[in-house]
Amino acid sequence: MTRRVAVIGECMLELKGQAFGPMTQGYGGDTFNTAVYLKRCGDAAGVQVAYATALGDDGLSTGLLERWRDQGIDTRLVRRIPGRMPGLYLIEVDPAGERSFHYWRDTAAAKAYFDEAVSPLEHHAEDFDALYLSGITLAVLPPAGRERLFALMERLRARGAQVVFDNNFRPRLWPDRAAARDTFERAFSLATIALVTADDHQALTGLDSLEAAIAQAQSLPTPEVLIKRGASPTLVHSAQAPRHWAEAPTEEVARVVDTTAAGDAFAGGYLARRLAGADAVSAAVFGNRVAARVIQHPGAIIPIEVMGDLV
Ligand code: ADP
Repeated sequence: MTRRVAVIGECMLELKGQAFGPMTQGYGGDTFNTAVYLKRCGDAAGVQVAYATALGDDGLSTGLLERWRDQGIDTRLVRRIPGRMPGLYLIEVDPAGERSFHYWRDTAAAKAYFDEAVSPLEHHAEDFDALYLSGITLAVLPPAGRERLFALMERLRARGAQVVFDNNFRPRLWPDRAAARDTFERAFSLATIALVTADDHQALTGLDSLEAAIAQAQSLPTPEVLIKRGASPTLVHSAQAPRHWAEAPTEEVARVVDTTAAGDAFAGGYLARRLAGADAVSAAVFGNRVAARVIQHPGAIIPIEVMGDLV
């Protein structure tokens, strides 16, 4: 059965290397990583993934679009805005291998996605069975754009579509924590599935302990809530078993190479199975398997060749 998912967010150009030395180019962003893992893991079950964002009309933007299509991502929801550019981040790797991140995203095209009367996502909203967004999607949108996205969440949920919110919280993208907390609260109340990283929820709430943050997350109003706790089992709550919290085990990983995109990979694997009809716990077990694979390889998007048994 075909299941169509719209993923909205920002995918940036990436430069990686030593400062003033040679750099390699790539691209990435939390929601885009999820789109790729969802497409890979859901393909066989008929899951189709469209990425909604805005790019410029420059050659780099065209290059990004081509690469997204090569990944099997549907680009019909992408806006091209003349004169704007994609966001950029630079991963500076020092001689000891330590990485530091620098961002240029304040004027990125993605921020302007809703700056026209009807965006492609709003135009095609009825075509989708699910909408996925993250706390970073909300952070990069200006307040008016956020309102448009909240209205879309409401519209999709009202007709029985899944609305999935992943709580990625990056403090530097918000004016202060209170603003982020208010915005996240609205997203949690409009979503049908909340994917919650315990650490991010603690940072958002400012609670003293991880346990307190987890307890708070367990009282969220979203009907289906997944609480990810790194290597500890994932806590799973769904409308199928009201007031019950189950645990989905994680995989044992002997050597963690790079945890970049662990949560995004979980989201892709989880939704692929969930949209294909699996129950929440078995979908979470699968999401944990996908995440465990991703953290054993460098980079956010690992070669599909090492995912042969998962796709
Ligand atoms: P995020 O990447 O969103 O910050 P977590 O650190 O909670 O989230 O990790 C997301 C998922 O990655 C976990 O649910 C788990 O499946 C996997 N994971 C992370 N760290 C480990 C680990 N050390 N061993 C096994 N799995 C891990």
